[in-house]
Amino acid sequence: MVEIKAVQKVSLLDYPGKVSAIIFLGGCNFRCPFCYNVDIVLNPEKLVNIDEKIVLEFLKKRKKFLDGVCITGGEPTIHKDLPEFIRKIKALGLLVKLDTNGYMPEMLEKLFDEKLRALKGSKRYVLQQFLNDKKMIDKRFNKVKPYPQKVLEKFLKLVQPFFKEVELRA
Ligand code: SF4
Repeated sequence: MVEIKAVQKVSLLDYPGKVSAIIFLGGCNFRCPFCYNVDIVLNPEKLVNIDEKIVLEFLKKRKKFLDGVCITGGEPTIHKDLPEFIRKIKALGLLVKLDTNGYMPEMLEKLFDEKLRALKGSKRYVLQQFLNDKKMIDKRFNKVKPYPQKVLEKFLKLVQPFFKEVELRA
């Protein structure tokens, strides 16, 4: 079973154009200094696991109000039971969006092979500003000034030719 550490019941932002719930899985294979999911990344064992059955039951009850579910973390692909978990969510008739750092290619390949279609391809590129006012893995990053909007817009222009849609969340 995947280790579910937190659930956000509803989000209008995280799954563009959809109403979604967010499920946070524990642990990550990266240590990005600007990361603000500090406990989920560094101390997942100190956080209580939420029973998967309870989460699926909640989704079942709420599915008429939701379009889909964002699975995030931490890094969801480090959980070997992720494909099974996604299958269970999709069986409820909900879409699945996976947030990943892309560093577990074997798991991503497995998800593609199993034809979990919502995970195929990357049509949309989202560039997200980091916030320096949160608790971060590396405290020095609280003193780092985020890029100005204009610079981010420049970055976005560079990747624009490669994606159908690009978005800046600043
Ligand atoms: S959760 Fe994301 S931002 Fe945080 S350490 Fe992992 S990959 Fe980096």
